[in-house]
Amino acid sequence: LDLKNVDLKKLSDLGQGNGGSVEKVEHIPTGTTMAKKIVLIDAKESVRKQIVRELDIIIECNSEYIVTGYGAFLENPNVCICMEFMDKGSFDGIYKRVGPLPVEMVGNIALSVLEGLTYLYDVHRIIHRDIKPSNILLNSEGQIKLCDFGVSGELNNSIANTFVGTSVYMSPERIQGADYSVKSDVWSLGISLIELALGAFPFSDPPDDDDLSDLEDYARETQKTPTYRDSFILSKKMAKRASKRKSRVPLGPDGGLTTMSIIELMHQIVQEPSPRLPEDLFPTGAEDLVDAMLLKSPEDRKTPKELLTLSWIKAIRECDFNIKAWAALC
Ligand code: ADP
Ligand code: MG
Repeated sequence: LDLKNVDLKKLSDLGQGNGGSVEKVEHIPTGTTMAKKIVLIDAKESVRKQIVRELDIIIECNSEYIVTGYGAFLENPNVCICMEFMDKGSFDGIYKRVGPLPVEMVGNIALSVLEGLTYLYDVHRIIHRDIKPSNILLNSEGQIKLCDFGVSGELNNSIANTFVGTSVYMSPERIQGADYSVKSDVWSLGISLIELALGAFPFSDPPDDDDLSDLEDYARETQKTPTYRDSFILSKKMAKRASKRKSRVPLGPDGGLTTMSIIELMHQIVQEPSPRLPEDLFPTGAEDLVDAMLLKSPEDRKTPKELLTLSWIKAIRECDFNIKAWAALC
């Protein structure tokens, strides 16, 4: 497919990230709807050309767990990457709309991402490098796929060691300067799974007194004992309050992490015990999987392929949860 900018008609904006923006477009000659990612590369033209050449690998990635790549081209000073459009968007947006995900969805996300990472590494020797809920996508067929993996060495170099390359999903060893490995992706997946199961990023304040009184009201109305998980049913109200009180992870004026708070968070990731799923609310197999993903030392942490053999993943493969029906609701 010979992709040119003149053949692409913008339909809408899909979102904006640290490194660029994504649009929904129609490829007029074929009538295909695509997602077009526009990345500004602050480098020489020769480097940009090299990046576009390296991005050609995305066309060769064929897996039901990886977003199909249509190709990349240069539109100076931007590099544009065209890929399969996923009509339900990414899981960060989904959980912010619908709240904490059902545990079977969390399991299916774990399964799909582990399969995707295993495919990328075994077949193409690619390490993803940016696992987070916004890079895990859903479509109304009920398929869960990974996007935005680090195929280009040049692009990785231009992002690594910059602020843009700093992520709150980063593993302790990465924060301490070690190179990426598939096991760093596993850490990021563990953090992402807890976030999706709780409907909140796991490195932030626990519920405060006002939150607890909300929970008591909730218990009176619903006639059941409030659990830690219920607290996230009230998460919108609580999030509003959390943003007002002095948080362990202070937010900047735009609601993003400030420089200081990123450093503070990085310190927490390295020094504090890893986050865990709250006890007794999830199947023990789910707790075991997340605990295994969040072992601090990469030597102890398993690879995606090894994690696919854990008992909860097997149970998820056999369970008849209908992802397509669930996707229709979000
Ligand atoms: P980030 O991943 O950091 O949020 P991106 O620029 O990679 O930033 O993506 C911005 C948003 O665009 C994502 O959060 C996601 O919701 C949306 N998006 C990206 N790729 C696709 C796609 N292939 N289909 C549908 N939506 C997408
Ligand atoms: Mg992304």
